Amino acid sequence: TAKSSGKARIVVYEAEMDRRATHDAKLGADLRRALDRDEFFLVYQPVVRLPDGCPAGAEALVRWRHPERGVVPPVEFIPLAEQTGLIVPLGLWVLNEACRQAAQWLRDLRTTGPWKVSVNVSARQLSEPGFAVQVAEALAGWLLPADRLMIEVTETAIFDNETATATLRQISALGVALALDDFGTGHSSLSLLRTAPVDVLKVDKSFVDDLGGDNAESTIVTATLYIANGLRLSAVAEGVETPTQARRLYELGYQLAQGYHFAKPLPAEEMAALLAGAAPLPPPRRAAPAPDP
Ligand code: C2E
Ligand code: MG
Ligand code: MG
Ligand code: MG
Repeated sequence: TAKSSGKARIVVYEAEMDRRATHDAKLGADLRRALDRDEFFLVYQPVVRLPDGCPAGAEALVRWRHPERGVVPPVEFIPLAEQTGLIVPLGLWVLNEACRQAAQWLRDLRTTGPWKVSVNVSARQLSEPGFAVQVAEALAGWLLPADRLMIEVTETAIFDNETATATLRQISALGVALALDDFGTGHSSLSLLRTAPVDVLKVDKSFVDDLGGDNAESTIVTATLYIANGLRLSAVAEGVETPTQARRLYELGYQLAQGYHFAKPLPAEEMAALLAGAAPLPPPRRAAPAPDP
């Protein structure tokens, strides 16, 4: 009967909830030990200059090498780390590891363009009273010039959050750049761009996806560039997967982009090779020239 099948569904649902809770509890316990056991590592995704394909930066993205599960992506543990507060020590580790790596690249690479390394920071970290000091200490500790670092935060992390905005002002005063990540998907508010010291808008992949077809348009992608240009900010298009998207972005006037079309997140050594100019990324960009008649 409908009633008993409803009951059955509730039982299945509760079993699923239990399974998920156990899974999360286990993962949470593993997560707490993971820092001590040195199980996290960073990969780096290039940010590419569309006109010439040169890397303009590298976004540090955290990975977890779990002893049984293998490499776990951040979607599976960052939310958990945020809930449990572990994001604070984990985020501090990410910040220091990215600064250490950037400083090493600066020392080791013979030619260095004006690239930056960017680090994702959660709302929870920005609300920690000492966060700006920790950024200053990471830069000083690894001897990394402030203009080599960028901090990425989401609109939601700073929306209506005076503490977070004040922290960002202190970080900005150090000379560190600030990017608004996943732009257009959070509490988009243009007044945010006046109160927070934003340098870069990263338009979210979901809007870049709209540029799929040859003549496809994306109002948000276009509007973001318009806002960025008007406020003298940079704009980066995220999640570029196809040559068509890359070409459309270039035609619209985008200078910077990131995505699997150019490169997936890479091990540090491969990122270093790109920064050294050893391996060019796929070109942007223009429509192929017409063949000679
Ligand atoms: P995000 O900061 O927006 O980073 C971009 C994500 O999109 C990365 O996923 C990247 O691998 C992926 N991506 C880049 N290009 C493409 C593409 O062309 N196609 C597709 N399908 N995906 C693409 P990832 O590394 O799994 O990170 C996911 C999110 O986890 C990040 O989104 C960021 O919000 C968060 N995250 C990663 N590392 C950290 C960290 O160290 N701290 C904090 N707080 N969050 C982090
Ligand atoms: Mg990011
Ligand atoms: Mg993003
Ligand atoms: Mg995104």
